[in-house]
Amino acid sequence: MSEKANIGVVGLAVMGSNLARNLASREGNRVAVYNRSKERTELLVTEHPEANFIPSKSIDEFVASLQSPRTAIIMVQAGAGTDAVISQLAERFEPGDIIVDGGNALFTDTIRRENEVSAKGINFVGAGISGGEEGALKGPSIMPGGSKKAYETLGPILASIAAVVDGEPCVTHLGTDGAGHFVKMIHNGIEYADMQLIAEAYDVLRQAGNYSPSEIADIFSEWNKGELESFLIEITGEVLRQVDEKTGKPLVDVVLDQAGSKGTGVWTVQTALNLGTPVSGIAEAVFARSLSSQEAQRQGAGHLPSKTQTWTIEDRAAFVEDVRKALYASKIIAYAQGFDAIRAGAAEYNWDINLGNVAKIWRGGCIIRAQFLNRISDAYAKNESLLSLLFDDYFTKAIDTSIESWRKVVAHSSLAGIPNPAFASSLSYYDGLRAKRLPAALIQGQRDFFGAHTYKRVDLPGVFHTLWSADRSEVETTPSSH
Ligand code: NAP
Repeated sequence: MSEKANIGVVGLAVMGSNLARNLASREGNRVAVYNRSKERTELLVTEHPEANFIPSKSIDEFVASLQSPRTAIIMVQAGAGTDAVISQLAERFEPGDIIVDGGNALFTDTIRRENEVSAKGINFVGAGISGGEEGALKGPSIMPGGSKKAYETLGPILASIAAVVDGEPCVTHLGTDGAGHFVKMIHNGIEYADMQLIAEAYDVLRQAGNYSPSEIADIFSEWNKGELESFLIEITGEVLRQVDEKTGKPLVDVVLDQAGSKGTGVWTVQTALNLGTPVSGIAEAVFARSLSSQEAQRQGAGHLPSKTQTWTIEDRAAFVEDVRKALYASKIIAYAQGFDAIRAGAAEYNWDINLGNVAKIWRGGCIIRAQFLNRISDAYAKNESLLSLLFDDYFTKAIDTSIESWRKVVAHSSLAGIPNPAFASSLSYYDGLRAKRLPAALIQGQRDFFGAHTYKRVDLPGVFHTLWSADRSEVETTPSSH
C-alpha cells in the first residue's frame, strides 16, 4: 500500500460513519475505515467517494493501513463489542500506538481497559463523544481522557473535528484513564435533568395554564431569546409545533407518554450514590422516566384519591414568567449538582479536571449546549476552587430573582396535583443546602439508638454513644473511641 492513513475508524454504524466523514473532510487527514460486516464499509466508501477513505475488509488489513504511531477510534456498540475490538487491535498494535474508544463506555470499564492496554505499552484513550449523528458529522463535543502523551498526537486530530465556539474547539484533555467517559456520563445525566425540567415546565403551562402545544411552542421560542437559550429549549419548541399528519392533532398528544433511556442517566445516579454526592435533579429525571414506563401501575392508579385544588391564575403573563424562573432556577441546581459530581469523581479517581474547561467544551456540539455554560465557565475562571456554582455571584443573583416564582410554582403544582419532581427536589436541595440546622441530627440519634452507630456533638470534640434506656429515665452519654 503506497499511502497510509493518519487515523482510522472501526465501527461504521451511525456514529462511526459520520465521524469518519468528519475526519476525512479535514485537511491533513487520511482516514482508514473498517467494520466487522463489510457491507457497512462498502456502503460508506461507495456513498462518499469524496472522502477518499482507505477501506479494509479485515482487521489485519486495517492495522496495516495505518501510519505509525497508529491511531484508531473505535465506534462500536458499548460493552462486549468494544472489548472485542480493543483486544483485536491490542494484539496487533505496537507500543506507542493509540486506541481510542469513542463509544459510550462506563468510565470504570475505561479504567480497566486502560490498565490492560497500557500494560502492553499501547496508549488507550476513552473519549466521550456527544452530539449524536449530526454532532459526529459536523462537529461534536469531545471529552477525552487517557495519558497526556497520547493527547499530544490525538489532540490536534480531535480539535480538527470538534465543534467550535468563539474560535475554541469543544475538546480538552480532561484527565487520565476514565476521566473523559466520567465527564461524558455526567453530561448525559445533566441532559436527563434538563429535559425533565423542560417537560415539567411544559406540563405546568399545559395543565395549569391551559395553553395549547403550539402556544407553548411560542412561549419556548420566546424563552430561547433569553437566559434559557439552548439547543434543548429550541427543539422543544419545534417538537411542540409538530402536527400529526394522520390525526391533525399536535404530535406530542399522539406520542405514547413512556420515556425511554439507554442507561447513562442510571450510571450517573449510581456513581453519585457511590460518591455520596447528591444529584437529586438527575435522579428525579431518571425516576420520572421509570415511572412513565410503569404501564401496569399507572393504569391501575386512576382511581387513587387526589383532593386537588384549582390553581387560579389571574395574571397569565406573570404565571408564564413564574414557570420560566422555576425552570431556570432548577436548571442551575441540576448543573451545580452535576459539577459537584465531577469534582467528587475527580477527587476519588485522582483526576485534575478543570471544571471551567468542562463548561466550555459543552457550549457546542452536544445536546446540552447553551448560552448559560458561558456563565459557568466564567464562574470557575473567577474562582477555580468554587465549592458550589450557587456561591458564584451570578448564580446567587439568578436564584435570588427566581426563588419566589420557583416556590410558587412548586407549591401551586403540589396543591393542584401536577407532578413536578425535578422542580420540587431541586428546591428542596437548595433549602437543604442553605439550612442552618438539618434534621440529620435526629437521624444520628436514631442510628445510635438502634445500632450504636455513635454521633458527634456540636459543643465537644470526639465521638459519643448514648445508652438509650427503654423508659428514657437512664440516659448516659459516654465519649467513645468508635
Ligand atoms: P451501535 O448501534 O451502538 O453499534 C453498532 C456497531 O457496533 C456496528 O458497527 C457493529 O458492527 C459494531 N459491533 C457490535 N458488536 C461488535 C463486535 N463484537 N465486533 C465488532 N463490531 C461490533 O452504533 P452507533 O449508534 O453508531 O454508536 C457507536 C458508539 O457510539 C456506541 O458506543 C454508542 O453508545 C456511542 N454513541 C452513540 C450516539 C448516538 O447518537 N447513536 C451518541 C453518542 C455516542 P456490525 O455492523 O458488524 O454489526
